[in-house]
Amino acid sequence: HAKQNGRARWMMFDQTMQEGALRRLTLEAELRLAVDAGQLYLQYQPIITPQDGVIRGFEALLRWRHPVLGMISPVEFIPVAEEVGLIVRIGGWVLEEACRQLCVWQQGRDLPLSMSVNISAVQLAGGDLVDTVTRVLAESGIAHGSLKLELTESAVMADAEHALAVFKELQALGVRLSLDDFGTGYSSLSHLRRLPIDTLKIDRSFVSAMDSHGDKRQIAEVVVMLARTLGLDVVAEGVETLAELDILREIGSDFVQGYFYFRPLDGAAATEALAEQGAQRARPA
Ligand code: C2E
Ligand code: MG
Ligand code: MG
Ligand code: MG
Repeated sequence: HAKQNGRARWMMFDQTMQEGALRRLTLEAELRLAVDAGQLYLQYQPIITPQDGVIRGFEALLRWRHPVLGMISPVEFIPVAEEVGLIVRIGGWVLEEACRQLCVWQQGRDLPLSMSVNISAVQLAGGDLVDTVTRVLAESGIAHGSLKLELTESAVMADAEHALAVFKELQALGVRLSLDDFGTGYSSLSHLRRLPIDTLKIDRSFVSAMDSHGDKRQIAEVVVMLARTLGLDVVAEGVETLAELDILREIGSDFVQGYFYFRPLDGAAATEALAEQGAQRARPA
């Protein structure tokens, strides 16, 4: 009996593995075509000052709608793109598209908007990130300081010396840098002090279900204090409730981002959100 059980379990395991491998191969093959087929697009999630609710910028988030497989999450396909090296081309397209969109939104506005773009560890490790960013900035014509590159804490700390060298070149271009998912990796404080970064993004895991007394609040508070000490801005991501927003206002997070204000929006919806806000501001108090 035991033997039969074991065999049944083995067969199930084997089948799950095969399905996983098949899905992965399918995604890889389909992803190679997705860019040219126009299946990739960007959504934009507003980044807001919590005191006044004003949109200060956006984070560009990559989306893949496959005609047969449907929506595929970046959490699933970015790792595939990284493994097969496609992320360099896709990431270049994301930079172009996001900067082009920012240029349109910035027209005729006195308030400067920023555009945050996620950069993969593979793009950071590869040789041409600085060249790509230089080219995209020149083509789009946006103010260099309005582009923010988000790198995860773990991508940066994986090779902090290399990251430092690349960051210095990006800083010389006038581009700004954020450490994404901060608190989930293992930052060395001495590296953190040396890196020319502008912003820490508190990871969503510390914000969701944060309450006034728990240790999540304390962690968020420590990140804000650390940022103050280092002269950095703080963005709290994943803000879903008024209770979370209130705490973040109290502890002095400079910016917030999350479903409480906006989900990631298609370009047209983001344009509307901006226009709506402009109309409110123009209205006399
Ligand atoms: P991230 O950079 O940390 O992006 C924030 C994620 O949190 C996004 O998920 C966003 O939709 C989600 N989010 C924002 N507010 C809330 C909220 O209030 N509640 C909840 N539950 N979620 C919220 P998304 O779009 O699925 O992206 C996941 C990750 O995929 C990103 O995490 C980023 O690491 C990666 N990614 C997305 N676009 C790109 C890209 O263009 N290039 C690269 N290299 N990575 C990307
Ligand atoms: Mg990000
Ligand atoms: Mg993040
Ligand atoms: Mg995160």
